[in-house]
Amino acid sequence: MATALQKLPQLLLRQYNLASCQCLARNLSDGEKKLLDQVNEELSNIRESGLWKFERVITTKQDSHVKVQNDDRRILNFCANNYLGLSSHPEVIAAGQKALTDYGAGLSSVRFICGTQTIHKELEEKISKFHGREDAILYASCFDANAGIFETVLNAEDAILSDELNHASIIDGIRLCKANKYRYKHLDMRDLEEKLIDAQKCRHRMIATDGVFSMDGDVAPLRDICDLAEKYKAFVFIDECHATGFLGGTGRGTDELLGVQSRVAIINSTLGKALGGAAGGYTTGPKPIIDLLRNRSRPYLFSNSLPPPVVGCASRVFDILTKSSGLVENISLKTERFRGQMVKAGFKILGNNHPICPVFLEDAKLASGMAEKLLQKGIYVIGFSYPVVPVGKARIRVQISASHSNEDVDRAVEAFVEVGKEMGVIS
Ligand code: PLP
Repeated sequence: MATALQKLPQLLLRQYNLASCQCLARNLSDGEKKLLDQVNEELSNIRESGLWKFERVITTKQDSHVKVQNDDRRILNFCANNYLGLSSHPEVIAAGQKALTDYGAGLSSVRFICGTQTIHKELEEKISKFHGREDAILYASCFDANAGIFETVLNAEDAILSDELNHASIIDGIRLCKANKYRYKHLDMRDLEEKLIDAQKCRHRMIATDGVFSMDGDVAPLRDICDLAEKYKAFVFIDECHATGFLGGTGRGTDELLGVQSRVAIINSTLGKALGGAAGGYTTGPKPIIDLLRNRSRPYLFSNSLPPPVVGCASRVFDILTKSSGLVENISLKTERFRGQMVKAGFKILGNNHPICPVFLEDAKLASGMAEKLLQKGIYVIGFSYPVVPVGKARIRVQISASHSNEDVDRAVEAFVEVGKEMGVIS
């Protein structure tokens, strides 16, 4: 029998539906009723196990300072992927507005029917030049780019070797492809080598890894990976969503940081984080691969073209990044400032000097309680716990942006120190 607690969320949902959507009166079929009963039970389980994802509603632009609904304060935002602060950069906004005026709201078409404008071709050229590659292809998201790449390039004769902590979109993309699948232990080169030896029987071997892993801010050992790729006749694919625009001396990414730009074959990345934060993703690499994707990749062929304002914003971002590395230096200094002060105060910060700075706390309740107390002090951060990270590895993920001032960084550290002492995390 359902407990009162189990019924509560269903009651709330019904009230919400009636109040806000003025739903059509419908006669539900037995099949639909059965489905909804099962879905409601699943929702109750999610709530009861404390895994419900609440969405805090922001009432301003994405920036280092934001306002959230039902709160008059401007709070300091340390949880966006807005690494370079370009989401609300005046030049980026103006470029988006101009593209909207000149090219319209959208294409109402996929690329190969009538959805390609000059600005799409220009952006693809800027992307490939930025990465020093032969060509690039745009997608509606990097999730789509990851859904398209593996099944297009590999088939049942081939092997795909993937780090076990790769992003969900890589895992899903690999599921769609028929290649022989190997999952190697996180960053474990010995395990990767064993799997490469086994995969020698296959025609092609692709090693797929996130350049930077978003939960720990740890960087893939690309030099070793490229060495193994050479030794075992494989090629390397990297997902650079948490690297493009700000990692490496000029922001080209993890391959630049580790000096292997010429040894990585294919790069997927997003326009939805450091590169303006609107939406969109891409693959860049050898021209034949890009040509094949244009002809065979299903998320590209069967999904709408990127809207002109999004293209306009991203295009201006590449102009800004190509002109100067100022923002790259800026975020690197802010990252060092935050990490240095936090470690000195006694906190454990995971990762390899990346702007993703996970403050390691182990305990899930401690992480969520601490995030809540920090919000009361005007610092917006999020606690991550199981199932997003393993049990006992809860943390607060702080993300530094070039748009934070030194004072913003210092204020966050002060708040962490106060709350950390209050909660017994540091002494
Ligand atoms: N790959 C990684 C490593 C990511 O972190 C994300 C976004 O969270 C994606 C892919 C998907 O990117 P997009 O938001 O463009 O679909």
